[in-house]
Amino acid sequence: MSLETILGPIRGLGVTLRTMLAEPKVTVQFPEERLNLTPRYRGMHELRLYEDGSEVCVGCSLCAAACPADCIFVEGAEEEDEGRERYARQYMINYARCIFCGYCVEACPVDAIGMTKVMQELTMTNRWTAVWDKDALIENFKRRVAEEGEEPKYVLKSQSMMAPHNRGLD
Ligand code: SF4
Ligand code: SF4
Repeated sequence: MSLETILGPIRGLGVTLRTMLAEPKVTVQFPEERLNLTPRYRGMHELRLYEDGSEVCVGCSLCAAACPADCIFVEGAEEEDEGRERYARQYMINYARCIFCGYCVEACPVDAIGMTKVMQELTMTNRWTAVWDKDALIENFKRRVAEEGEEPKYVLKSQSMMAPHNRGLD
């Protein structure tokens, strides 16, 4: 047996001991303690509302088209009677597939979707609870606004839209 074979594990244990005794500790006692996340952290999504409570999303499906994981489902609809020409009747994100790349946010022409710092709610016991619907994503927005005190008001980036191009979650 070579000397290197004996010294290798001893060196490895030394690294473990140094890490155990190092300050500050790397681990936090979640959920009592929370990491101070960067402002650009990409956690779970939010679907935004205007100040009057109406939905910003126009159901154009550009986010679904841009998603490399094919995990967004949008069913667009038109409802002129309600004062909105176009909206998302259904909007779902399958978090069992999402890779949190943020492409959907970049693709949205009206800033209707964003990413929050929330991740802990993503724990699940079966894959069906991984699919978050429109109401749950709007709740994410309301909670973030309540916590950060940000004005729920967004300026449209452009008026461009495309025909619905829905993708399934299966
Ligand atoms: S963050 Fe990326 S993978 Fe997740 S829904 Fe958006 S585009 Fe798809
Ligand atoms: S791209 Fe924006 S407006 Fe279009 S469906 Fe997605 S979230 Fe809604």
